[in-house]
Amino acid sequence: MTERFISTLPVATEAEQFRLLVDSVREYAIYLLDANGIVRSWNTGAQRIKGYSAKEIIGQHFSRMFTDEDRTNGRPARIMAEAARNDSCRDEGWRVRKDGTRFWASVVVNAVRDELGELRGFTKVSRDETERHAIEEQVRHNAQELERLVESRTQQLMEKAENLRRANEELEQFNYVTSHDLQEPLRMVGIYMQKLARQADGKLSDDEKRYVRYAIEGAERMRLLIDDLLRYNRLDRERAEHEPIPSGDALRAALDNLAQLITENAAEVVSEPLPLVRANLGQLTQVFQNLIHNAVKYKSDQPPRIHIDAVASGRAWKFRMRDNGIGIEPQYHDRIFEVFQRLHSREYPGTGMGLAICKKIVEQHGGRIWVESSRGSGSAFHFTLPAL
Ligand code: ADP
Repeated sequence: MTERFISTLPVATEAEQFRLLVDSVREYAIYLLDANGIVRSWNTGAQRIKGYSAKEIIGQHFSRMFTDEDRTNGRPARIMAEAARNDSCRDEGWRVRKDGTRFWASVVVNAVRDELGELRGFTKVSRDETERHAIEEQVRHNAQELERLVESRTQQLMEKAENLRRANEELEQFNYVTSHDLQEPLRMVGIYMQKLARQADGKLSDDEKRYVRYAIEGAERMRLLIDDLLRYNRLDRERAEHEPIPSGDALRAALDNLAQLITENAAEVVSEPLPLVRANLGQLTQVFQNLIHNAVKYKSDQPPRIHIDAVASGRAWKFRMRDNGIGIEPQYHDRIFEVFQRLHSREYPGTGMGLAICKKIVEQHGGRIWVESSRGSGSAFHFTLPAL
């Protein structure tokens, strides 16, 4: 194929063949400049890209194809100087067609020297890269837009988080102060009701005695509620130290605190060996205490049997406390861990804070707490704590 093509070429001088070759290139503007920057040759590609015919441009200075700004700031001279100095220069930028429209040119300029090394001029090869440039610009623009959007969303989120943190802090402060301030008047109600009851003893009807008793009980209940609320708030306000402790020590302390309740209810508590964990001893004691107290309080008609164990689960220990009590219907399994949420009223005393306190403590230790249970078949409370 190639051989036939060569053999059918018209006879021509080497220079003529070269001119034909350059002229046939349409995708690139290829032309010669003399050492002063005057256009000396012009191919078809140059005419197609820049709009000038050879007749119009040959003899003109090549700076004519630059923008006014570039001409003013000396860009054409700089390109020539660099090509002369380094023998080659690459450039990208806006150029102006004959009709005044702009295109984005990617240009290579090479110095042409004679045998003695004298600079005789330059070859220029350039290509219209307007489309590629537009895509690049669009990509750059999109990236900038995205960056701006991410920045402004991050800023908004940070502001929201800060507002939330402040609101939370104020709420904690409010809870703490009101709980504190409520304790004093409440103490007064209790004390004076009891005084009143003592002084009026004998003069009160059965109904009146009952009312006084309700008032005293009410004040006492409220005192317990406020105490628990304060304890709950204190968990946020005073972050406790977590250190390596044997969790069995916390269980023992909880059982000591509950000794009377356990004896009175003939409860049996059995524990497997418990692991070392990173925790706060006082707080872990509180968790065991609240859970065991509940297991005894919500007993069935059988004496309470409580079984405690712990198994390794990934990088944590999973504790389990099973009881043979009244159980909890599945639809309440989440609710019981919320503040003041109770499933019973008067038949079981309580404030509805015990499990909320357990949840807060466990979560502050980086763990999770949940229950598995159904009505009438006992409950299994689970919680995780990070292993050492
Ligand atoms: P309180 O015991 O003061 O009501 P808690 O937060 O400790 O508050 O418990 C919330 C509710 O969860 C209780 O009112 C009770 O209905 C239920 N509950 C907790 N522990 C058990 C348990 N071991 N067995 C059955 N029900 C339980």
